[in-house]
Amino acid sequence: MRTPIIAGNWKLNKTIAEAESFASELVTALADVSDVEIIIAPVFTALSRVSARLTGSPLRLAGQNCYPQETGAFTGELSPLMLKDAGCSAVIIGHSERRQLLGESDQLINLKVKKTLATSMTAILCVGETLEERQADQALDVLARQIKGGLAGLSAQQMLDLVIAYEPVWAIGTGQTASDEQAQEAHSFIRGLVAGLFNQETAEACRILYGGSVKPDNVDGLMAQTDIDGALVGGASLKVADFCRIVRFN
Ligand code: PEP
Repeated sequence: MRTPIIAGNWKLNKTIAEAESFASELVTALADVSDVEIIIAPVFTALSRVSARLTGSPLRLAGQNCYPQETGAFTGELSPLMLKDAGCSAVIIGHSERRQLLGESDQLINLKVKKTLATSMTAILCVGETLEERQADQALDVLARQIKGGLAGLSAQQMLDLVIAYEPVWAIGTGQTASDEQAQEAHSFIRGLVAGLFNQETAEACRILYGGSVKPDNVDGLMAQTDIDGALVGGASLKVADFCRIVRFN
């Protein structure tokens, strides 16, 4: 059995004070949830104050990005160790916005994954094809490249702390969710890739989240799919009622 994960990616939203009060609302509203792992990823500046609000609750804190070095002359960057110091236990890596807007390569993403795992934190590796790639029938090739690149050099043991998020770029922030069948097809393909790279046991244990316009009205269908183990939620994670409904999927 794979414990579901619902993760909220707050992206570039909320001041420290807004993030703190939003986190407190979530802690109260989700206090009775024990069968789903809940992760929130505020902006860096809010992490340590939000972390204080999560004390004593099962909600986990994640960074939205990291740099693959611990310390040094890397102006403007943050290491997994620093995120851990601020209260995080997970890092989102390779989000499509970073791949597209900041040109992150599979090689850099792989280094970030390794550094995060070496810091004993959960790495949430994001993959997903663009609309052009899907229309050109290249979606599965792109996923294969991103998964092989992102997971290069990892051991089956390290995979225990790694979560994959399938996020088709055309579905992120567009309101256009992948259909349940499209998402299941991609997830099953990714699980097959993990089995080929590692082994069947690792693939069965690996949690694969879907991301891309997940909302209260589509989460149930997505979560009913065999290979969908949770959701990475952007827009709907910024509304308490919507995020809570997603956490309480049927
Ligand atoms: C995301 O940013 O990871 C995401 C899935 O966004 P949205 O839910 O808004 O599509």
